[in-house]
Amino acid sequence: LTRIRGIIFDLDGVIYRGDSPLPHAAKAVAAVRAAGMRIAFLTNNSTEHREVYCERLRAMGIPCEVQDVMSSGYATVLWLQEQCRDGCRVHVVGEDGLRRELREGGFTLVTDQEPADFVVAGMDRNFGFKTLLDAQQVILKGARLIATNRDATFPVEGGVRPGGGTMIAALETCTGAKALTIGKPETYTLEKVLQGWGLQPVECALVGDRLDTDILLANRLGMLSIMVLTGAHTRQQADAAPEEMRPKVIINDLSELEGTVGG
Ligand SMILES: [Mg+2]
Repeated sequence: LTRIRGIIFDLDGVIYRGDSPLPHAAKAVAAVRAAGMRIAFLTNNSTEHREVYCERLRAMGIPCEVQDVMSSGYATVLWLQEQCRDGCRVHVVGEDGLRRELREGGFTLVTDQEPADFVVAGMDRNFGFKTLLDAQQVILKGARLIATNRDATFPVEGGVRPGGGTMIAALETCTGAKALTIGKPETYTLEKVLQGWGLQPVECALVGDRLDTDILLANRLGMLSIMVLTGAHTRQQADAAPEEMRPKVIINDLSELEGTVGG
């Protein structure tokens, strides 16, 4: 077994659910850090700035710096920076946290039906007909559609809400465009984390609760995929999943993590 030198934790369903920390989260993260491993928190949620996720973690007793967090929103900023050497005009279908990431990334945000190079779309709890109409017109005039993520639903305490993928589907339907997706299960977010660490996939593990995003992504990169049963999917679903979505390891909760990665 290759020694694991870095662990990437999904947030929702792994570290917390809504505003409630999941059992053993703070202890497990502390133990992994004490063992000298690198840590990152990876979320497909693009509604908030990374600083907000950090604050939530700190409130749960988990130390966090903004560079420890990779969100689909921030990854979209990194991707756009690679495309836009001379700056780009960006039309956002999303929330204020995503706008803040893009503004800090150096992008000019345009509104209404002003021409744009890219339409960046994620979950938008104020999504309405005008949102759709404006983005549609901007895309029909040539802007490229980028999805921060395509999650069908968004977990909350006691249930689910419509996720960012809902808005992407609406935008694709009325434009005929096909969005390029940045978030999980695409590999870009995780590649950026590994690049920052200078580590290879075989030296890292990803801990997640969803087979179709977290586990698929880890398997795609050849990373140790660890499923924790405190979130979206069950052991039965893991057993029945297609090969590429089957976790290498299943743990009941994070108290079992240290034994798995040999801290
Ligand atoms: Mg999750």
